[in-house]
Amino acid sequence: MVQYVPQLSALSVNEKSQIKGYLKKMPKQNYCIVEGEKMQIADYCTICFNEFGPDEKVRETQCKHIFHSDCIIIWIMWKLPRPHCPNCRQEFSR
Ligand SMILES: [Zn+2]
Ligand SMILES: [Zn+2]
Repeated sequence: MVQYVPQLSALSVNEKSQIKGYLKKMPKQNYCIVEGEKMQIADYCTICFNEFGPDEKVRETQCKHIFHSDCIIIWIMWKLPRPHCPNCRQEFSR
């Protein structure tokens, strides 16, 4: 079975720049660093449902939810032009 995964190379220049704009607002960090800063934090990613490992790269959205960096990039590609948070459904602002 082949699953459809959006490819960055298949996107238009406009779409790529939109994605970059969203990602700029979600700094990439190590999970252990984010975890160390916060009292309460999800221990798994609600996009792939896998637990975060201490060395995994994650991104924190403006609504303070954490996802794997790779997962949130694919999510944004899927949800263009109006991506929202998979956790709380708040629309990401650019
Ligand atoms: Zn994930
Ligand atoms: Zn959220």
